[in-house]
Amino acid sequence: MKTAFTDGRVFVGDGTILERATVFVEDGKIMGISGSDAVISEDTHQIPLGDATLFPGFIDTHIHIVMDAGPDPIGSIVGQSDVMTTLKGAQNAEKTLAAGVTTVRDLGGHHGVDLELKKAIESGLIKGPRILASARLICMTGGHGWPIGREADGPDQVRLAAREQIKAGADQVKFMATGGVLTPGVDPGSPQLGYEEMKAGIEEAHKVGKKTATHAMGSQGIMAALRAGIDSIEHGIYLTDEIISFMVENKVFLIPTIAALHHIEEMGTTGGIPAWAVDKSLVVAPHHRASIKKAHKAGVAIAMGTDAGTPFNLHGLNLMEIPLLAAHGLSPMEALMAATSVASQVVGMENQIGTIEPGKLADLVMVKGNPMENIDILYNADAVSLVMKGGKIVKA
Ligand SMILES: [Zn+2]
Repeated sequence: MKTAFTDGRVFVGDGTILERATVFVEDGKIMGISGSDAVISEDTHQIPLGDATLFPGFIDTHIHIVMDAGPDPIGSIVGQSDVMTTLKGAQNAEKTLAAGVTTVRDLGGHHGVDLELKKAIESGLIKGPRILASARLICMTGGHGWPIGREADGPDQVRLAAREQIKAGADQVKFMATGGVLTPGVDPGSPQLGYEEMKAGIEEAHKVGKKTATHAMGSQGIMAALRAGIDSIEHGIYLTDEIISFMVENKVFLIPTIAALHHIEEMGTTGGIPAWAVDKSLVVAPHHRASIKKAHKAGVAIAMGTDAGTPFNLHGLNLMEIPLLAAHGLSPMEALMAATSVASQVVGMENQIGTIEPGKLADLVMVKGNPMENIDILYNADAVSLVMKGGKIVKA
């Protein structure tokens, strides 16, 4: 099956925009790109780009497929059967793909549901994005996320916990370096897993060539994770100058997940979010905004991640993180690259996805109009008009 997206605007992902370009797809891969003089064979299915822009499939580097985006998502997981979690997860996966997100990194599942959903999508049983799963997040006893996490204390236990997730099929390993918003009684700024603990766990992941990520809000926890060799800092609320220069020098990615706090701030307790979670969000949000702007100015590599599944942070609204990034100092081009080529590096798939280049997987998304001129169009979930994953059109 041959397809050609013809005569239109193409966001390559490397910082360039092509006009009047045609992109050829065959056997699930991008075969080539031509100018307006493209020669198209008769057996090729042609899709005129018209006024739309063609993007590489978007990549969300931080979601929770098992969380339902209700007011207390962790509470609802532990209060429902795994069958219900799976059914909701399948629906979340379908919505995510329809939104133009063709690859996701899941940073905390429950009872292996994330791993099974990944398999179901790969086998074609259900529709969804390519999932890079973490299995269970690793936290200290009583630490942030503990109701769905693997509690581990001391370097030996954290090492064992990391090996368990890798054995279960995790694509990367997630650690909790500090407290957070969505677990009652833990302070977002307080350190949790320590340097020695994370060093042991990270070592296990790196031994088998897997990446690591950490939930990290407070400065002390962020610095401990960085020294221990972490590959990405999730949230990053309290960034100091020392943290920022370490991240630039060692090319550690920042995944701010602006959408997570945005929805909690916007809904407040009216939507049923527990007051303790809203209160914590309001305290950290101004620090977060300042940190993102400062990190961006200093040259920290920032990637798109939504934390979809957290309160009112609905699966399928993922792309609104892109205009949110732009509202925090990234240019439209930078924000769109954060969701494509930069994100592909975060997930370690930069040779397969993230740009429109011959030889890469044919994950392609048509967005109405020109988001480089009007980035706010991505607040609207209807902005995506066509989604192709691995050469198959999954939404048109
Ligand atoms: Zn998360």
